[in-house]
Amino acid sequence: MRHRFTADSHVHSKNSFDADSSVAEQLKRADELGLDYLTVTDHFESAFYYKPDSEFGDQPSLLRQSASDIESARKSNVSKTELLCGIELGEPLHDIRATEDALAIADYDFILCSTHNLKDMGDFFWLDYHREAIPELLKKYFSELCECIEWGRFDSLAHITYPLRYICGRAGIQIDMNDYKAEIDEALSLLAKGERALEFNTCRNPELSSSCMDDCRDVYFLRRFIELGGRYITLGSDAHKAEDLAKGIDGALDILSELGVKEIAVYKKREPHMLPIV
Ligand SMILES: [Zn+2]
Ligand SMILES: [Zn+2]
Repeated sequence: MRHRFTADSHVHSKNSFDADSSVAEQLKRADELGLDYLTVTDHFESAFYYKPDSEFGDQPSLLRQSASDIESARKSNVSKTELLCGIELGEPLHDIRATEDALAIADYDFILCSTHNLKDMGDFFWLDYHREAIPELLKKYFSELCECIEWGRFDSLAHITYPLRYICGRAGIQIDMNDYKAEIDEALSLLAKGERALEFNTCRNPELSSSCMDDCRDVYFLRRFIELGGRYITLGSDAHKAEDLAKGIDGALDILSELGVKEIAVYKKREPHMLPIV
């Protein structure tokens, strides 16, 4: 790692339904890579919290196990990496009671807020974009983001480009962000005004670098967030196994430097700590 401080603030352990590595394995890998901070943020999907299904599993047990594994790993941690306890809240407003119950499980350092699916719809991963009305879908997406930001019980908004991974990345449909400028500006202004962070999710992409800024969908959002007064940016690889840990983080730091960003935020006990990136 070339930069002075490095942090991966979005990482899953096997206490997430779709991840493989233990907290101890993620911490060991973080130490090998020389990361200063590692925040484990296991999944919570509000609509399925009290309705266990075959995909998400028994979330109350998994999240209690996640907090307990992080606590144990912290106690025996002899590495240079500081281990922090986080959670990724998926669609927190789809079942607010479940969200409040999940947030009471641990004294979290860091809370991410995600939208993987719109209300009463499947994950963006599953949709067929050649059949969906994309403008309505995206407007609804940004509107749900605004509702979450106004609710505000989180620190950083995760992977804002999530639907675009599948609409542009997989289905190959081009989207002009300017068609959604009003909706995007509303969400990013609310985020900046509420002093919440925007996550730069590196999607476990080791190819990320300042030479491919034009191809990086996050850049449009990061640039606009900064223009609108946003101050806090967090970084996360979203690694679901130890070998993907911190992938893309170094390239993301180069991109942020190009955008004039001097510091990234790492949250401890819900407070942002600013780390210089050059
Ligand atoms: Zn996510
Ligand atoms: Zn995630």
